[in-house]
Parts: sequence; C-alpha cells; structure tokens
Amino acid sequence: MSIDLHTHSTASDGLVEPDDLMRLAADAGLTVVALTDHDTTAGHARAAAALPAGLTLLPGAEISCFVEVAGRSVSLHVLAYLFDATEPAFAAVRAQIREHRATRARQMVRLLATDGHQVTWERVSELAAGTVGRPHVAAAMVEAGLVPTVSAAFSREWIGTGGPYWVGKWQPDVWETLRLIRQAGGVSVFAHPFASRRGVTVGPEVIERMAGAGLTGLEVDHPDHDGDERRRLRALAADLDLVVTGSSDFHGSSKPQGLGAESTSPAAYQRLVAAACGAAPITAAA
Ligand code: AMP
Ligand code: FE
Ligand code: FE
Ligand code: ZN
Repeated sequence: MSIDLHTHSTASDGLVEPDDLMRLAADAGLTVVALTDHDTTAGHARAAAALPAGLTLLPGAEISCFVEVAGRSVSLHVLAYLFDATEPAFAAVRAQIREHRATRARQMVRLLATDGHQVTWERVSELAAGTVGRPHVAAAMVEAGLVPTVSAAFSREWIGTGGPYWVGKWQPDVWETLRLIRQAGGVSVFAHPFASRRGVTVGPEVIERMAGAGLTGLEVDHPDHDGDERRRLRALAADLDLVVTGSSDFHGSSKPQGLGAESTSPAAYQRLVAAACGAAPITAAA
C-alpha cells in the first residue's frame, strides 16, 4: 500500500485540477490519497467524482492557524481529516480565513503597485481558482518579470515573511482550530512541525500542549524535514502516543516532490480513520 496524506489542487495553491490529481495519484501507484487544500474542501466533489478504481480518497483540508509563544505569534498548519464539511462552526471559520486571504492578497498587490511594480489583482485572482495565497501573487510577479521564479518571490526582499510586500493574514489560534476539527468529527495532524526553513517553528512543549488539546498525529516524513528533524519528531510522537504520518505535500510542478514521495504506514492510516466520525474515506462507485 502506498498512502499519501497531504496534497494540494487548484482549489488552493496546487497547479493540478482535483480530478486530474486523482488520475495522477492512481498512476503514481497510490492506494490512498488525501486532498488537503488550504482552508477549503472545494475540491472534494470533483476529486470524488473522478476517483479511479482501487484508489481511496481521504477528504481533508490544511488549516492555517497561529500559536502565541513567549508573546510572539507563530504560524502553523494543521491537517484536518474526515470532518463533517457541513458542520457550521468549522465551515464558517474556513470561510473567514479565505476571505481574509483575499483581502490580504489585494493589500500585497497594492503595496507592489505603490512601488511601481506592475502586478494586478485582476491577474492574481485569475490565477487563483480557489483559496488565494502568496503562490498566486508570486506567479503574477514572475509573469510581470519582477522575479525569475516563484521561490525568488518568497525572499525577504519581496513577499517572504517580514518582507516589504508581505502582509500577514488573519487566522484562528491553534486551540480553537483543534476544537473546531474535533467538534466536526475530524482528526488533526500537525503539518511539517519542524520545517525550520519555512520560518519560525515551535518546540516540543507546544506539541505536548497540542496533544493535550486533542491533536491526533504528527507529520514526521515531509520533504521539508531533514533526518535530524524526523528523528526528533518520531521520538516525540512515541512519547506522546501520536500517530506518525508521511506525505509529499504535492503542489504540482511548483515544488520538486512528486506524489508518493513520502508515505504513511497502513497502521497509522487505520488509527486516523478509527479516530474520526465526521466523514468516511471515499472509494470509486462500482
Ligand atoms: P500563504 O499561506 O498564502 O502565506 O502562502 C504560503 C504557501 O506558499 C505555502 O503553503 C507553500 O505552499 C507556498 N510556499 C512557501 N514558500 C514557498 C517557496 N519558497 N516557493 C514556492 N512556494 C512556497
Ligand atoms: Fe501551499
Ligand atoms: Fe503547509
Ligand atoms: Zn500543504
């Protein structure tokens, strides 16, 4: 079995349509794939309708949130799986995050334009079919010739965190996020917890508190973790009895990792499924 529990489609900042993603997942030999777009479930229906035989879809979302540590706000991503997408409290917060993301992307475009950089909100919103993110602003910047690559746009000189054209986004705190996921019948996995090259990360004491607040798993095997980060996370998961997952965080050609580049064991997958009651994994109609 090959199980990949973290992928993105055009419903957020991935480059592959949800239905094509399911075909690619089957071609890559996956038996289970989770669709975890940023702050949305908008791709689930199209993915489910296109499921090839032999592939199971685990419906999910990657929720943007923050935690306050020593007076400082640290951004986190929490993967939510198998929650009831119609549960109103969690659905409302996802909608709120998406709304603020759009406002914030407009602000970044305005800051760029003020300095004479020709990027338009019109183009950014065309590039974003779903949840708007910095990758869409970055793609518009590449088109406008401001930067050679999307990655270059993420530098501190542009829209990288703390950069002159970066604008933070509103997001719920991690405690509310964990509560909302549980309330909607879902399970939660802390995405790429120690991915230090993405920015500031939290320490084991925060993860211990998250475990106490209902966190179910840790994404240990992720392309942005090095060997040492994986070892420390695996030990922490064992200490706290958290489920260990591995996932590609596939986004399409904008990132190097292919589908199935990292994977989750069948036993870990079963533990996640058993802990959820808001929805069931989806298989192709016979
Ligand atoms: P946002 O949530 O809008 O702040 O944008 C963050 C998203 O940008 C992440 O989910 C990544 O998928 C993507 N991202 C972050 N850093 C880079 C980078 N250096 N190159 C390409 N994409 C990136
Ligand atoms: Fe992303
Ligand atoms: Fe993430
Ligand atoms: Zn992701």
